[in-house]
Amino acid sequence: MKEKEWQRFAVQSVVLLAAVLALSVFHPGDIIRDNGKMVMADGTAVLNNSDNVKKQPGQKKKVSVYELPVKTDKAQITERSSIYVEIKKSAVPTGAAVYLSDEYMEQGIRLVIESAKGRKLKNEDIARHNNGRKYTGKVNKKNKKDIAESINIRYSVKKKKYRAELELKTKHLYAPALYETDKAYFISLARPRDVYDKIIVVDAGHGGIDEGTSSARGDREKDYNLLVLKELKQLLDKTDIKVYYTRLTDRRVTKAARTNLANNLEADLFISIHCNSSGKNGKNDKAYGVETLYSRRKPLNSKLGNKKLSQILLNNVAEEIGNKKRGVIRREGLYIMHHSEVPASIIEIGYMSNKSDLKYILKKSGREKVAKGIYKGIMEALE
Ligand SMILES: [Zn+2]
Repeated sequence: MKEKEWQRFAVQSVVLLAAVLALSVFHPGDIIRDNGKMVMADGTAVLNNSDNVKKQPGQKKKVSVYELPVKTDKAQITERSSIYVEIKKSAVPTGAAVYLSDEYMEQGIRLVIESAKGRKLKNEDIARHNNGRKYTGKVNKKNKKDIAESINIRYSVKKKKYRAELELKTKHLYAPALYETDKAYFISLARPRDVYDKIIVVDAGHGGIDEGTSSARGDREKDYNLLVLKELKQLLDKTDIKVYYTRLTDRRVTKAARTNLANNLEADLFISIHCNSSGKNGKNDKAYGVETLYSRRKPLNSKLGNKKLSQILLNNVAEEIGNKKRGVIRREGLYIMHHSEVPASIIEIGYMSNKSDLKYILKKSGREKVAKGIYKGIMEALE
């Protein structure tokens, strides 16, 4: 470092220290950011669940949607719940980097410990607490109150970097958060509805071997559903709505897994993005426009009906892209429609078999408009 940089560094350090001191003196219980870690006034570091945190300057590591980055929104920080996983500090080498991912599609969590010194995780290191009961060691199916369904531990060494990985599948779906104290790491497992005010599930239809429909020249529906979802994600990332995505890559996800996610989360909305097509092998160019699909099935614990949600989505998307509203169509037979316990709608954003619809589906600017329409619809539906 040059002298000037040193000076600036020294000034910044003093300012930061003063700020930390001021906060800890005047606002006990407040949460202070310290080197990318959330620190409670009692010295407890808190890492919490949010997909909305932007990359910090100088932060090289890409934050994936499944990884739980540092929480900046105080309102969503939760107390440690009565259900939690405890990993003793003795199992974690000093100076290790610890990451927690919310693998909600697998109904589990993944804890990664990376360090310069090796230390294998053992089954005995991982204690599962459930309202006063404690389980360690291997999962025994007879222990009904053990929150763990299965535990899988991996260990690898690459370029002198040791990596211990814990994959823990749970019997229920939780919103996990990582806490650190002097003695242990705690992963609190709370009911998502107790943590988040607004929860939505956004689904890109098809994926993997299930390609959906296609255009005459072979563009595959599954790819464009996902691209629209990614545009939508950018808009939703800026809100404090907790969004769960059934897939963010080209992979196969069963309809049951998609719907179970929405049901287990008790989500406020469940929206599935699709592209339409008409005629044999999508050869009918005549049909065009936007439509939404719904079921008359009544959602549990929600005043918003499926038809109302579908109407809101249709209006917003069709208006945003300036395309025909084909209508809100009742489709009881579709799996998602039939099994969703929460307000659900399938949006068919346009026809891949129609040249003019296909144009906006294939163009980024077109998909941005579709995403904006869905986004507006979500906001209106959540009001
Ligand atoms: Zn489809």
